[in-house]
Order: sequence, then C-alpha cells, then structure tokens
Amino acid sequence: MKKYFIFFLLFFAVISCSVSNNHSSNIKQEKYSIVIHGGAGFYDYGKNLELDSMYIASLNQVIYFGDSLLQLNKNAVDVVELCIQILEDNPLFNAGRGSVLSEDGTVNMDASIMDGKTTKAGAVAGLTTTRHPITAARRVMDSTVHVFLATEGAEQFATQQKLEKMPPNWFVTPKALILWQKEIEKIKKSKFGTVGCVVRDRKGNIAAGTSTGGMSMKKWGRIGDAPIIGAGTYASNNNCGISCTGHGEYFIRNVVAYDVAARMEYLKESIDSAANYIVNTKLKNQKASGGLIGIDKKGNITMQFNSSSMFRAYKKEGEEAKAFIK
Ligand code: ASP
Repeated sequence: MKKYFIFFLLFFAVISCSVSNNHSSNIKQEKYSIVIHGGAGFYDYGKNLELDSMYIASLNQVIYFGDSLLQLNKNAVDVVELCIQILEDNPLFNAGRGSVLSEDGTVNMDASIMDGKTTKAGAVAGLTTTRHPITAARRVMDSTVHVFLATEGAEQFATQQKLEKMPPNWFVTPKALILWQKEIEKIKKSKFGTVGCVVRDRKGNIAAGTSTGGMSMKKWGRIGDAPIIGAGTYASNNNCGISCTGHGEYFIRNVVAYDVAARMEYLKESIDSAANYIVNTKLKNQKASGGLIGIDKKGNITMQFNSSSMFRAYKKEGEEAKAFIK
C-alpha cells in the first residue's frame, strides 16, 4: 500500500512539474508598454484650463483602460483596436465622432492597423457611417486577402461584417461644424489631428493603429497617411511599432512610419534617435508639421513632434501613466 502511495506521489509530482514547465515555456512574460496619441497640432495650451484637463483625463482614461487589458494578457492587436475605439468615440479628437469636416461638409474617415508579429495589416479610407473605422481596418486584416479598402466598397464590407453604423450626422460635432464654418468663411489652411495607439504586450508582440477624420477642408476624396501602411502606421516585432500624426501628404512622401523602422534596422539607431531625426530634422526641414509615437522591441517608448502640441500618454507595466499636451 505504502509503495502505491509513493508511486502516486511521484506521478503527481511529475505531472504538475510538466504542467508548470509547459506553462512557463508557452507564456513568455515580459513587461508590456502602451503609448497613445490624440493628434499633433497647434492647440492653445493653458488658454482653457477646463479643456486642458478634459484632454488629459481622456488620455488617462484610455491609457488605464489599455493597461487593464494588458494586465489580463490581452494581445497587442486587441488592445490597439479597443483603445482606438474609445478615442474614436471621444468628440475631443479628430477620429470617428468628432472628425473634422471635408470641404463639402461631410465626414470621411481613414484608419489602419498592423500586427507586428505577422506583419499583416488592414486599412480603410473614406468611411462615412462606420462607427469604428479601426475595427473595419482590423476586419480587412483578419477577414480578407486585401490590405486596403476605400469608400463605398469599404462601407459595403463593413456592412457585410455587421459593424455598427451611425447616420453621417452622428459624427458631426458642434466643434467640427464651427471650425468648418469659420474655414469656409476664411478659406483658411487645413487643420489636422488624429488618434493612434502602439502596444507591446507581455509576449513581446507589437501592434500599431491610427484613425483619423483627416485634414479639415480636404477635397476630391483626398486620403492622408493614416490608412497607408508604412506612412502613418507600421509594426514589426523585429524593430518597432509606429503611429503618426500630422500633415499627411508629407508623411506619405517621406514614408515616415517605415522610415523609423528602416533606420533602426539598417543604421542600428535607437527608436528615439531615428524618430527624432525624422520628425525634428527631416520633416522640419520640409516645413512639415506633425509627430509620431512608437515602441521598440525592448519596450522603449518614443513620442516626437515638431508642432506646438501633441496630445499623448504612455504607461509601462508597473509604472505610473504620464499624459502630456505641450
Ligand atoms: N495625418 C492625418 C492626415 O493627414 C491628419 C493628422 O494626423 O492630423 O489625414
């Protein structure tokens, strides 16, 4: 009897040991990091303290939401999508509800997402009724053989995917309308803004996403950098994840998001020096305003901009979140 008892003890010890080994080899636990932006631009910081604190509170809300998902071991792509959904619903930011208006007074939204583990990507442009353009981009990545769908076709796809739709007016906020009316009067230069999120999860997987209403007063079906993989969004576990904001035409011409990754890969630059060079030297020399956020494969975060402001926040596992405007 004693012999059987010892045998059972040994049997259970071996089983539990192999279960715990499997567990530790399957789950590579590293510290996660998350960074978000709510657009670079020329926000008058300090002029309206209540508005300043609304922006900071909104950034913190999203970053702590992302943090709670990462604590539950959600993967990087899910966290990027879910965080951007919240930013899209927040009328303070130029994405989803709160998007700036095109010259004809309509909202036309662009978004993209990229999974650094597989380097698969999805993008949509010119959406008018899909509540969460970032989710439409995610579905393009996950459920089609394509990368980029635009306008009516993208809307049709979103309908087929049963994504939530809203009437076009739902996206138009009083703030966007006032801005549009002023600009129509002044025939002034375009304004911009965007939202973005980059995550590196506990398994070391990186994902990046960007969503925007584009530039105000845009014409003729103009599409900016936000839905263009390599220009506004890029992610690869080999080097980094990047989400951009700024004057899209320059970000397309300079292939900004990929250029950060390329400098890191070929020149062995750190994420900070690559991003700093592109934003504060290369783009600045072209008088191209904007910025970007990024995370490298070790979890280092960069947040660079050459405009007067960029709404941004970040958090590393176990540390306090930090949110900034100036
Ligand atoms: N990059 C966006 C675009 O050009 C706008 C922005 O980020 O502010 O559409």
